[in-house]
Amino acid sequence: MYLIVRGSKTLVPASVDTAPAGRIYRNMIRINENYEKLSSSYLFSEVGRRVEAFQKAHPKTPVIRLGIGDVTLPLTPAVLAAFHDAVDEMGNESTFHGYGPDLGYDFLRGPIAEIDYRARGADISPEEIVISDGSKCDTANIQELFAHDLHIAIPDPVYPVYVDTNVMAGRTGAYRDGRYGSLIYLDSTEDNGFVPDVPKSRVDLVYLCFPNNPTGATITRAQLEAWVEYARKSKALILYDAAYVSFIRDDALPRSIYEIPGARECAIEFRSFSKTAGFTGVRCAYTVVPKTCMAWDSSGSAHSLHALWSRRQATKFNGVSYPVQRAAAAVYTVQGQKEIRGLSDYYLGNAKIIREKLVGMGFACTGGENSPYIWAKVGTDSWKFFDTLLEKAGVVVTPGIGFGQCGDGYVRISAFNKKDKVDQAMRQMAAAAAELKKLS
Ligand code: PLP
Repeated sequence: MYLIVRGSKTLVPASVDTAPAGRIYRNMIRINENYEKLSSSYLFSEVGRRVEAFQKAHPKTPVIRLGIGDVTLPLTPAVLAAFHDAVDEMGNESTFHGYGPDLGYDFLRGPIAEIDYRARGADISPEEIVISDGSKCDTANIQELFAHDLHIAIPDPVYPVYVDTNVMAGRTGAYRDGRYGSLIYLDSTEDNGFVPDVPKSRVDLVYLCFPNNPTGATITRAQLEAWVEYARKSKALILYDAAYVSFIRDDALPRSIYEIPGARECAIEFRSFSKTAGFTGVRCAYTVVPKTCMAWDSSGSAHSLHALWSRRQATKFNGVSYPVQRAAAAVYTVQGQKEIRGLSDYYLGNAKIIREKLVGMGFACTGGENSPYIWAKVGTDSWKFFDTLLEKAGVVVTPGIGFGQCGDGYVRISAFNKKDKVDQAMRQMAAAAAELKKLS
């Protein structure tokens, strides 16, 4: 026999002692109850569950996935050759590498500073770059450096990791009517072109992501300047996630927040090789924490965030493997740069097709230019559109509501797939367009 434990959806064997309502148990291993505040299962698990149910019911219907943002193209030749060579080095006593330097090898941090920053006029030194195994963990772990009672601003819609990791850390308050009581939500809507305005109330920590996941929106230099000015004046910190920077083609758009004067004092930037170089399964990323970026303790003394993050990483992380860092460094060779440009060009080609076809069907879209995501306005209920699209066209997208309240009525369509699949998905969607349009 199984019981449902209070407030949770988990089934436990009836033999397990459970607390009667109101009684507080102490003498047992207890969970971090913040996990009970998580609003629902992770978005992509729910998408997966519905797709699986559909496939069981329609085993002969092929399903095309334009949902999850995972890359489909393999590692490029220059990266692969460097990766192989480094693996061979590990098998030879004279070239074997054990634990690497805490913050990453200089052979990788140097080219990053040079090519991703200095070449664009952003004053970042190799010592300010910290190599890691992913931006997901970095954007999640960074909050460990900050006080517990901060005013945290999160755009809506948003990459769910920023919200859920703050929930787990107990920073958000309770979940009620689709939002957490203690978070400050920055609505990103059609009205502001999906770029949130600087807040009117006090904010200590703000998450920004451009090109944006999920909306595909980009931020202009003037808009980013306004954010940097706000953060500097109010002694706040911007966490700037640039995971999709390699998709920017418009030269007027900033690639890095450090192209904006003053950002070195008030911003941490996250970048990943996942989408840039097809490393989702290889795992390598980096976080830039300028040495001039400070946060304060309760007595008003300033502390270097670079020193705190370095200490955190050195204590809790043992670095990215030598072959993976060698593979990442190959991205910065002349050949590597050419090859990874080919990857983003390919996905941008898909994005263009998706955007044009959707607009042709009468759906308003943002993104898909300078971004691998297309954010399509599809009606009032994004799960309903998701289900109808799956049912009628066999195409999987991501319902906008999964990224926040402001995402309802939208879906995110990902360009990370093979071109023939994208073409086929758009043909199937066009055939179902009349029924899909009825929802909007
Ligand atoms: N940041 C954003 C905005 C993302 O969309 C993703 C992945 O989808 C990540 C970070 C995670 O990157 P990584 O693979 O480096 O963990």
